[in-house]
Amino acid sequence: MPALAVQQLTKTYKGGFQALKGIDLSVEEGDFFALLGPNGAGKSTFIGIIASLVNKTGGQVEVFGHDLDHDPEAVKSCIGLVPQEFNFNLFLPVFEVVLNQAGYYGIPRREAKVRAERYLRQLDLWDRRDTEMRKLSGGLKRRLMIARALVHQPRLLILDEPTAGVDIEIRRSMWSFLRDLNAGGTTIILTTHYLEEAESLCRQIAIINQGRIAERSSVADLLGKLHTETFVLNLRGRV
Ligand code: ADP
Ligand code: MG
Repeated sequence: MPALAVQQLTKTYKGGFQALKGIDLSVEEGDFFALLGPNGAGKSTFIGIIASLVNKTGGQVEVFGHDLDHDPEAVKSCIGLVPQEFNFNLFLPVFEVVLNQAGYYGIPRREAKVRAERYLRQLDLWDRRDTEMRKLSGGLKRRLMIARALVHQPRLLILDEPTAGVDIEIRRSMWSFLRDLNAGGTTIILTTHYLEEAESLCRQIAIINQGRIAERSSVADLLGKLHTETFVLNLRGRV
């Protein structure tokens, strides 16, 4: 059973703009998958639909066999999301940000505290547990959002441009955390517009452009192609 199976997914926003034009995509359990594409390609729209933040116009989404239309709660419980932008109460202390999320999933307070401590330690944020989120740098905010996304122990972690605007040191620490998490069995999908990030982290890749999948392959095969002819130019033009 794939972690994610999407068929003929379409999205037309109010006003008539068609952001997704029939996406077919599947991601195997255990994969580390990159969705690569330029700004405006439809990455956040795609992820927003899977995470129930955006309504789809048409098509089918299944997460670990749960259909998004028939069992949205089961889909939600399988997914941890690190959104591209976060617009909740930034005055909350770091520890509370994670505990609140645990509350949202109905995790008992005692267990929530244990998990929050574990993930904050793993993400090097335990020393800052009493710091208000707004006082963290952009990179540390992202790491906090990863801890928050993991508190209900999702089988699939989705990160929307997690390292955009993050300095290289924190970016590397995030990469190594994500590699370990994936090695422990969590399926990961991330969007990025950095080809190097996809190369360095991921095994499978899809390139999305103007609401369509332009390419789908293993990273190894893609890199092979990159060494040949005009494909390089076409791709570099696109991403
Ligand atoms: P990406 O994440 O790849 O940068 P998005 O999914 O955010 O792309 O956006 C895809 C396209 O859909 C863009 O052209 C964007 O302007 C448009 N779009 C995104 N959100 C909305 C919205 N709420 N209403 C109308 N158009 C939108
Ligand atoms: Mg986006």
